[in-house]
Amino acid sequence: MKYISTRGGMEPAPYSAILLEGLATDGGLVVPETLPRVTADEIESWRSFSYPELAAEVLSRFATDIPRDDLDRMCRDAYSSELFVTEEIVPLTPIDDEITLVGLSEGPTLAFKDMAMQFLGQALEYVLARSDRALNILGATSGDTGSAAEYALRGKDGIAVFMLSPQGRMSAFQRAQMYSLEDENIHNIAVAGVFDDCQNLVKSLSSDLEFKRAHHLGTVNSINLGRISAQIVYYFWAWLRASDGVPADERAGYEVSVTVPSGNFGNILSGHLAKTMGLPLRKLVLAANENNVLDHFFRTGVYAPRTAAETHATSSPSMDISKASNLERFVYDLVGCDSERLGEAWRELDETGRIDLTAELVRFEAEYGLRSGSSTHADRVATIRSVHERSGILIDPHTADGVKVAREYVEPGVPMLVLETAKPEKFPDIVFEATGVQLGIPEQLAGLLERAQRVTEMADDAGELRAFISAHAVHR
Ligand SMILES: *Cc1c(COP(=O)(O)O)cnc(C)c1O
Repeated sequence: MKYISTRGGMEPAPYSAILLEGLATDGGLVVPETLPRVTADEIESWRSFSYPELAAEVLSRFATDIPRDDLDRMCRDAYSSELFVTEEIVPLTPIDDEITLVGLSEGPTLAFKDMAMQFLGQALEYVLARSDRALNILGATSGDTGSAAEYALRGKDGIAVFMLSPQGRMSAFQRAQMYSLEDENIHNIAVAGVFDDCQNLVKSLSSDLEFKRAHHLGTVNSINLGRISAQIVYYFWAWLRASDGVPADERAGYEVSVTVPSGNFGNILSGHLAKTMGLPLRKLVLAANENNVLDHFFRTGVYAPRTAAETHATSSPSMDISKASNLERFVYDLVGCDSERLGEAWRELDETGRIDLTAELVRFEAEYGLRSGSSTHADRVATIRSVHERSGILIDPHTADGVKVAREYVEPGVPMLVLETAKPEKFPDIVFEATGVQLGIPEQLAGLLERAQRVTEMADDAGELRAFISAHAVHR
């Protein structure tokens, strides 16, 4: 299996080579040359697999250049009960007769990013050791992604992490989670500025190709194909668990629908790929918050991204994105994997600020089963409250966006799964507003807030950041 660029300008490369890259060399996104297909019988033969066994099976279709024994070991280490609170790794929990939550937040940072990042941490360490290379990850975070990356890469050989965060802009919990890590290869840098300033610093250093090469700089952002491939696994897992109770002769082709709280279009893209591989998903529903650019796209066929300044700060902050970086992979698929047509569409987007894919729209619905919806703060509060009243279960605001939109697409006889993307303990304020329940820190993290913290404070200054990275980067 080889990987190519959506823009058509990259030599086909194996899985282990593309894991270390962000964008493809021609500025496009990396996609498989052909997506692996699986039959209903194959999927059925995976029913007794544990989560790590299933992960190795699914990922072996993508990572064809990594020996299966090594992949088995990486998946066991990534999805172990030492790192995940629940024995099953991904538990399914019905909240009523119609909707079931798929628990993707049982990992160390209480959000679904752990699912992909834990595997990527294993895979990067392995690939770097095999090629005798080092990697210095430079990133900016306002919370979730940075902590998931740090917990996945802590203590890994040949890797260091330089994570910029805006000084005074993160919650006490988020600060404690990141800054209490004592691993020598983790460097938290609190920048005097806002998140955009942090991101601009990352861009400024990453676009200096000489500095980038000399310091083996890389990223693990949401366009990383290792992350996308690892996310495909839990769609298969969710389908297998949802169909466990179905009589054996009715399982082939048994349909379930899935709703995905979405921001950068990474999670739901993995669902789209699982479906294309042969998983019988009926509807794949995108849930947005007030930043509803993608909802608008799926309803009208017109994609009109907004700027950072036009993006609302909402109570489901990890979905506050108005330019979804993974959408290019989906649009590539939509235009029939034709790089030239994709290039034309992107030129139109650059020139006019929008593209109209109405002609292709019919395929979203008919062939891909894609639907969408959006919600507001008031919807999230009402949804958290009603779920709690009916089931006693507390959900986080992102999952609430999902449940709200999922209800609009429930069909009789078709289970509706909603991906739980974070734990409510990460967002105690809105949970309290909705239910009056005061959530503390979960048991497994007791004492977190009291732990000593280690962070380097820095001015919003690229020169200072360069000097710091030069002094602390790992080399081989
Ligand atoms: C990252 C994130 C999302 C959005 O996922 P995408 O893959 O960017 O669409 C949703 N909810 C939570 C809690 C997240 O951390």
